[in-house]
Amino acid sequence: MIRCPQCNSTEIYPAVGGYGGYYYRCKKCGYAGALVIEYDSDEAPQEKRELQQEYRKEMQEYEKRRRPLLWAVLVLLLIATVFFLVYR
Ligand SMILES: [Zn+2]
Repeated sequence: MIRCPQCNSTEIYPAVGGYGGYYYRCKKCGYAGALVIEYDSDEAPQEKRELQQEYRKEMQEYEKRRRPLLWAVLVLLLIATVFFLVYR
């Protein structure tokens, strides 16, 4: 996702330039140049992306905290199974 640095329009398209490089041309204001504003996505503004990152971080923390408990349960199950097989 790219935007025009002059009018912030998304109506900007890469145009073939000379000497191996290429430049952009804005349909709206007629800007032509190599400089454009780049976005990762047109749907996620900065704040939304930060929220997503925060959410993801929280989920990772939660997973980290939950993991030892999960292992404890698995080990207990294993021990229970062994006891069941040995002493039945
Ligand atoms: Zn423009």
